[in-house]
Amino acid sequence: LIELDRAHLVHPVASWRGHEKTGARMLVSAKGATVTDAQGHQLLDGFAGLWCVNAGYGHESVIEAATKQLRELPYATGYFSLGSEPAARLAARLAEHAPGDLNHVYFTLGGSDAVDSTVRFARYYWHSRGMAQRDQFISVANGYHGSSTVGAGLTALPVFHAGFGMPLDWQHKISSHYAYRNPVGTDPQAIIDASVAELRAKIEEIGPDRVAAFYIEPIQGSGGVIVPPKGWVSAMHAVCKEHDILFVADEVITGFGRTGPVFASIEEGIVPDMMTTAKGLTSGYVPMGAVFLSDGVYNTIADGAGAAAVGHGYTYSAHPVSAAVGLAVLDLYEGGLFDNGVRMGQRLMAGLQSLQDHPLVGDVRGRGMLAAIEMVVDKDKKTPLPAAAAPAVRVFDRAWDNGLVVRAFAQGVIGYAPPLCCTEAEIDAIVERTRLSLDQTLA
Ligand code: PMP
Repeated sequence: LIELDRAHLVHPVASWRGHEKTGARMLVSAKGATVTDAQGHQLLDGFAGLWCVNAGYGHESVIEAATKQLRELPYATGYFSLGSEPAARLAARLAEHAPGDLNHVYFTLGGSDAVDSTVRFARYYWHSRGMAQRDQFISVANGYHGSSTVGAGLTALPVFHAGFGMPLDWQHKISSHYAYRNPVGTDPQAIIDASVAELRAKIEEIGPDRVAAFYIEPIQGSGGVIVPPKGWVSAMHAVCKEHDILFVADEVITGFGRTGPVFASIEEGIVPDMMTTAKGLTSGYVPMGAVFLSDGVYNTIADGAGAAAVGHGYTYSAHPVSAAVGLAVLDLYEGGLFDNGVRMGQRLMAGLQSLQDHPLVGDVRGRGMLAAIEMVVDKDKKTPLPAAAAPAVRVFDRAWDNGLVVRAFAQGVIGYAPPLCCTEAEIDAIVERTRLSLDQTLA
């Protein structure tokens, strides 16, 4: 298997030759929060795949729902004015969970095309209001919004830009709220004030009547699980509202109970104009993403000239099998997994906080079942690890050998996003296996 993979499968994010040398780690089966590799090792999946298998693996109800839908109607396009029962039902049930008046759902295949769709919808919206000149977009450094061309440009991780003239000329950035390493210091209010001032200045620089939308993640995921100070999200939302700028919350990671509430925007006390989701929507069993549009955005586009201006859609939008899986996964969440995730999230955060004294650990951060530790050389000086990637990868390797899957980020950050179905014993094992792996890395 490893030889076939090495010879024929492309893994663009890994170092290509490096990947050829080490070969892939093959997984063959999974159940609950446990995955099994080709050598028969069982590992706790502390990252829920790629922060997506929120419900956990192997639920019979999900498998049955997918099988039933495959038999009845495996495909119906969501492209034109056609529909299917599971897609309509899922949209209606999602609208019940969404913050405020985010009552309209557009289904995509994943997160990147959900982000792309919001860019189009934002443009349709302004076109419909007779303000087509509002065509500039702002996002936040360290943010990740996908790897399509438009999404990668909004993504503010330079590695996604190299060689493509990104960000695109209508995409702008402000600095991150990274509290652990912030030039204005660690005081939460100072960080909020700095971000507000910078967003205001950026809007003035571009021209208030040119800015279409502003993008945030309630907690930045791929940038290294960076949690903004409490009040940061609502302060940024307020600046956008002052200038009538659309506020887009990218909840591809934070949605579906990852941080505690169904959506993180609910806890921030804001209603975004648009919200993107994916991952936990179908718990990774099949691909699907969704854009939520507020009544105001939807009706403006529907009543205006915007919708007619440009086409948009995907062959697999609102795929009935994905929607059937989404409904079955939602039953599991509502049937106890959301509640369990809240309890286990508190336990995970408390457990990881207990690692704060470890000589390698500089910062422990997160909310609910989304967490990270940042390793440093010198805790007082917060000196980053020298060859940033290597020690994180070493911890990843040790953890793997100790029966735990984590995510190693380039900057020496180890990420956690366990399935919401974890038991107390599994959460404790995630923490203890991490402690052991850190000790072994230090030795
Ligand atoms: N937005 C965010 C916040 C994400 O974390 C991701 C994926 N990690 C995406 C968008 C892109 O989603 P996908 O990989 O499903 O295209």
